Amino acid sequence: MRLSSAVSSLKPSATIAAAAKAKALKQQGVTVYDFTLGEPDFTTPKHICDAAVAAMEAGHTHYTPANGILELKQAICETYKREYGLTYTPQQVVVSNGAKHSIHNVLTALCGPGDEVIIPTPYWVSYSALVELTGATPVLVPTTQESGFCLTAEQFEAAITDKTCLLMLNNPCNPTGAAYPIDMLEALAKVAVERNIPVLSDEIYEKLIYDGSEFRSFASFGPEVQALTIIVSGVSKAYAMTGWRIGWTLGPVDVTTAMSDLQSQQTSNPCSISQYASLAALNGPQECLGEMLEKFAERRRYVLDRLNNIPGLSFATPGGAFYAFFDVSSYFGKPLQGGIVVDNASDFCTALLEVAHVALVTGDAFGAPGYVRLSFATSLDVLEAGLNRLEAFLAGDQ
Ligand code: PMP
Ligand code: GLU
Repeated sequence: MRLSSAVSSLKPSATIAAAAKAKALKQQGVTVYDFTLGEPDFTTPKHICDAAVAAMEAGHTHYTPANGILELKQAICETYKREYGLTYTPQQVVVSNGAKHSIHNVLTALCGPGDEVIIPTPYWVSYSALVELTGATPVLVPTTQESGFCLTAEQFEAAITDKTCLLMLNNPCNPTGAAYPIDMLEALAKVAVERNIPVLSDEIYEKLIYDGSEFRSFASFGPEVQALTIIVSGVSKAYAMTGWRIGWTLGPVDVTTAMSDLQSQQTSNPCSISQYASLAALNGPQECLGEMLEKFAERRRYVLDRLNNIPGLSFATPGGAFYAFFDVSSYFGKPLQGGIVVDNASDFCTALLEVAHVALVTGDAFGAPGYVRLSFATSLDVLEAGLNRLEAFLAGDQ
């Protein structure tokens, strides 16, 4: 059948494809050290699961308003007030089927053919694909390891043209873990206001911040900035709720109304039961966040320490999220374990999986050739065993 031009150039999500490849090998009975998906290994806290059961028992098993139940939208508003001092009304909130869906809604509401969307690289795999689906053009602006992979105000300003309709900012960043210093964020906000450029601020990793780094919501730099910002976040990463598929956007009423209308035509509401579970996540005890963060911090320390001790690898220390993103290009052209020689990150990952049974995601998928991404959202035991194998793979047959 003839496919539409929108989907004919679409590739599957590289993170999900890498995870599927690792899973296929596991199904053949091979022990695979899988560091592909950015997904907490913890089970969703019990009080959240209990709230889902209670919601089903109470009969909350029907359609809800397309943009989410009022209680959840109110809880989201209260959370942003309490945590960031930001005032939003429930009308300014749209609850969707995961933050990925929220991003698609924002792009569909704001971008179209002839428009340009500025994306700092390295960037999360789905950004460029979702921009292209709208017919707009992604404008990739490379950041450097030396700058901690943060976009500077000068770079932002230089990328703006009369076609620019949006900046996509991801703080903390997937895949680099970059947590923007507050002054850099403020400088970006200043440019956005001066040049009147809307900003999609993807803050899905907002709760995963490590020692020495800080988080500040982009909309919190004043009313003019808030008026240009659409925040995207959700429960997936912070509350270990990836499978529940709840994300949200907060933004100006004209944008949220357009996204609600879009959603009402496209998917109706996000799962009713997941919405009640998310309500319990936001309104219930928050100790689980600290407990999970402590585990992530311990794993981060371990992974960075190991990577630091492997010659030839380099990286910018991640201040947030749960990824180590490191440069393996010094190993290109040299014999690795099994005598294999590779000259790019994609072939590196394929060889690493086949020979050492360690699964990483290639930096090529994130617009960062020469790099690979390791998700440390998995146990210390698995990290230790996988890093031992990575080390042996890099050492080659000595
Ligand atoms: N934004 C970023 C930067 C992500 O890494 C992810 C990971 N899935 C998402 C959005 C989407 O999150 P969700 O699972 O809620 O769709
Ligand atoms: N965001 C996670 C990742 O980057 C989950 C997979 C996906 O949605 O792409 O691995």
